[in-house]
Amino acid sequence: METSLLDLEGHEFVLSNLPPSPTHKRLALGIVFALLVVFVVSAPFATLPIRRIDAFVPAYATAIFVNDLITAALLFAHFAIVPSGALLALASGYLLTALIVIPWALTFPGVFSPGGLLGAGLQSTAWLNAIWHVGFPLFVIAYSLLKEADSVQRFSRVIRPAILASVGLVAAFVGSATALVTVGGRIMPALMFNEERTANFAYYLNVPIMALVALALVLLWVRVRSVLDLWLMVVMCAYATEAALQLFPVPTRFSVGWYAGRVCGLLSGSLVLLILLQQITMLYGQLLHAVLGQRREREARLMTGDAISASIAHEVKQPLGAIVTNASAGLNLLKSAEPDIDMAEEAFRDIVSDGHRAAAVIDNIRTLYRKGTQTWTSLDVNNVVRQALALVDDSLRTHRVDVRADFSAQLPLVRGEQVQLQQVLVNLITNAIDSMATSDGERVLSIRSELHHSGYVMVSVEDTGKGLDPGAADRIFNPLFTTKTHGMGMGLAICRSIVEAHEGELWVTAKPVGGATFHFTVPVEAAGASDRALPLRV
Ligand code: ADP
Repeated sequence: METSLLDLEGHEFVLSNLPPSPTHKRLALGIVFALLVVFVVSAPFATLPIRRIDAFVPAYATAIFVNDLITAALLFAHFAIVPSGALLALASGYLLTALIVIPWALTFPGVFSPGGLLGAGLQSTAWLNAIWHVGFPLFVIAYSLLKEADSVQRFSRVIRPAILASVGLVAAFVGSATALVTVGGRIMPALMFNEERTANFAYYLNVPIMALVALALVLLWVRVRSVLDLWLMVVMCAYATEAALQLFPVPTRFSVGWYAGRVCGLLSGSLVLLILLQQITMLYGQLLHAVLGQRREREARLMTGDAISASIAHEVKQPLGAIVTNASAGLNLLKSAEPDIDMAEEAFRDIVSDGHRAAAVIDNIRTLYRKGTQTWTSLDVNNVVRQALALVDDSLRTHRVDVRADFSAQLPLVRGEQVQLQQVLVNLITNAIDSMATSDGERVLSIRSELHHSGYVMVSVEDTGKGLDPGAADRIFNPLFTTKTHGMGMGLAICRSIVEAHEGELWVTAKPVGGATFHFTVPVEAAGASDRALPLRV
C-alpha cells in the first residue's frame, strides 16, 4: 500500500503538486492587491481607537481555531497519502496557530476575566501573539526548504508515528510557551505598557517577524510549483500586512490598525483551507469521472467479450450445419443396399471444406477483434458471390428460394480478404432466406453486382421477405440487436466491420412492397497494388 502511495509523488493529481491555474494566479494577485488597499487605507488611522467589542476576541479566536485545525487535519491527511516532510511541517504550523490561539484568547485581559485566565500577566497575551507570529512563518520556511528534499522515502514507513510525534511536539510546545508567558511572564521583556498600549520592545520584535515573513515569501516565490505554494505566498502577504499594521506608528489594541490586522489574520487563516477544499472537491469530481469512465470501459470490454463469443457462435453455426447435413447424407449413402461411393465421397469432401471454412471463420473473427492485419488479394467480386451462393445452396433449396443473379461482366478487380467478403455475403443471404421463410409470398433472392460511382464495386442482395421492422432500420447494425427468437444480432455488425475494414460501406434500403435490399461497396483495386498486409479498421 505504502509503495503505491510513494508512486504518487510528482503526479499532478496530488494536491501538493497541482500547478496553479491562471484563475488562481489572478485571484491571488487580486487578494494581494486588496491587502495592499487595506494597509494603505487603514495605516493612517491605525492608532485611531474604536470601541472595544467584547465578543470580538472569542469570536476571532474560535474562527482561527476551527479554520486552522481543519486545515491542519487536511494537511496531515494529505501527508498520510504523500508522506513528504514539507507537508508535515506545514500541517504542524497550522496546528500551532490553532492551538496557540486558545491560551491567547484565555489570557486576553478582560475577555474571560479582568486580568485574563491561566494566571496571566499583562505581557502573556502579547508574548503568545509574538510566538504565534514568529512560529508560523518558521514552519512555512521549513515547508519551502523541505519541498525540494526527497523526504517521502524516509516518512513512508512511519506515517502514523510522524503525525503523532508532530501533534505531540506542537501541543507540548504550546503548553510550555503558555507556561512560560504566564508563570514567567513577569521576568520577560515588556511588550505592553498597559492593557491597550504597546511597549517599544514590540517594535523590535516585529522586525524579525517581518524578516521571517519576507524570507518565507522569497523562498516560496523562487520555488513556486503548486497551487499550495501560491496561496501560502498570499498568506505570507497577509501576515506581512498584519505585522506592518502593528508597527504603525504606535499600535494600540482595539484601534483601526489592530482590527484591520486581525481581519488580515483571519483571512490568512482561511485562505489555505478554502483552497484545499476547492482543490479536494475538484479532484473528487475528476475521480468520479475517472471511475465512471473506467466502469464504462469495463462494460464495453464485457460487451466486446459477449460480442466475440456471439460472433463465433453465429459464424460457425452455418458451416457446422452444413457439416451435419453432409455427414448425414454421406452416412445414408453408405448405409443403402447399393452404396453410392462417388456421392458419399463428394459429401465427405464437402465436410472437409466446411471444416476448413469454420476454422478460417474463427481465425477471421480473431483478427477482426484483435485489430490485426490480413493479407488482401485481388478478387473478382462475381466469383466471391458465386462461392457464397454455393455455400448456402442447401439452405436455398430447403426454403425453395429462387435465385436471380445479375452480374456485371466488366467488373474491375477489388482488393480484399476472400473469406471475410464471403462471410458478408453468406450473412446477407442467410438473413434474406430467414426473412422470406417467415412470409408466404414468392421467395426471390436477387443478387446484383455493378460498378458503383468513383471507383467502387457495389453488390446488392435483395429479397422478397417481410421487410424491416418499423423503427429497426437504425438499429439492425448494432451488435446484439436481433428480432429473431434464436438470433444473436451479430451478423450485420460483423458484416459492417468487415466492409468498413475494406474501406467500403454497407447499408440497407427498404422496398416499397415487402422485402429489403442490402448494398455494400468495396473499392476497386488501385493500379500497381500488390498483395500486402493491410490493417483492419475494426
Ligand atoms: P440475427 O440474424 O442474429 O438477428 P443480424 O445482425 O444478422 O442478426 O440481423 C439483425 C436484425 O436485422 C435481424 O434480427 C432482423 O430483424 C434484421 N434483418 C436483417 N436482415 C434482414 C432482412 N433481409 N429482412 C428483414 N430484416 C432483416
